[in-house]
Amino acid sequence: MLTRRHAIAAGVLAVVFAAAPAGAQDQPKDKLKVIASFSILGDLVKNVGGDRVEVGTLVGPNGNAHVYAPSPADAKRVADAKLVFVNGLGFEGWLERLVKASGSRAPVIVATKGIKPRERAGGRGHDHDHGQADPHAWQSVANAKIYVANIRDALIAADPAGKAAYEANAATYIAKLDALEREVRDVIAKIPADRRKLITSHDAFGYFEAAYGIAFIAPQGVSTEAEASARDVAAIITQIKKQKIAAVFLENVTDPRLVQQIARETGAKIGGTLYSDALTDDKGDATTYIDLIRHNLKQLAAALES
Ligand SMILES: [Zn+2]
Repeated sequence: MLTRRHAIAAGVLAVVFAAAPAGAQDQPKDKLKVIASFSILGDLVKNVGGDRVEVGTLVGPNGNAHVYAPSPADAKRVADAKLVFVNGLGFEGWLERLVKASGSRAPVIVATKGIKPRERAGGRGHDHDHGQADPHAWQSVANAKIYVANIRDALIAADPAGKAAYEANAATYIAKLDALEREVRDVIAKIPADRRKLITSHDAFGYFEAAYGIAFIAPQGVSTEAEASARDVAAIITQIKKQKIAAVFLENVTDPRLVQQIARETGAKIGGTLYSDALTDDKGDATTYIDLIRHNLKQLAAALES
């Protein structure tokens, strides 16, 4: 005779089997272990990988990938990974050495492959990084769709049994990105044209600017490695006063003091914090890429609309 406990356990099992989707027998026992270099990319990989993939990220929430110092634990995680996803375009200068040190033979997948890189002359007067590629391609939602396609193709190559799942996941997520992009365009269309300009600390929004028509002016270049010079800051202050730029924004990955100083000296208001190079942790409101773009959009609209 079954005890009550057995009966309950059997009932639970029945429910589990009933809920298992068709094709679940194709699920691998071990998930495909992959690493993404930073949190935003990690989220994109999770969306495409779904249940079949276990995604680790190296530079975590609110982290700055421009100046990251990998730990021995990172080398171990890279060594265990079957694929390493990176942004490329010079974003993760520390990565090649890390992969080498880990002894990993995992393919390194450059998620920006096929995206036309923007070249920036850097911040005001930053002659030294003239011609440097701008790595922040994810700030255009159209580019994020290219990341997703590259991620899908790499996962299929590494795990052909999951082809149908990766294709379905990518298609679902790309549809969400299409909706997100429409949202961005609708919100920006409501901001008066002469108010579509603002200040941030580092030059992370060039792709957003090119795609959606908001001018971002930044005293620091496309990397945060170089500090803004006094001359850069003075030039920006003059520009804010002359062009009557209404708002300056902080970022979640850079030191807020520079932007605070500019706000003080110009009387421009601090519009809030934009998320440039990293998701937030669970306490923040951008634990996913889609929420990151939505957060930035809301901040821009609130500060610039009126
Ligand atoms: Zn950056």
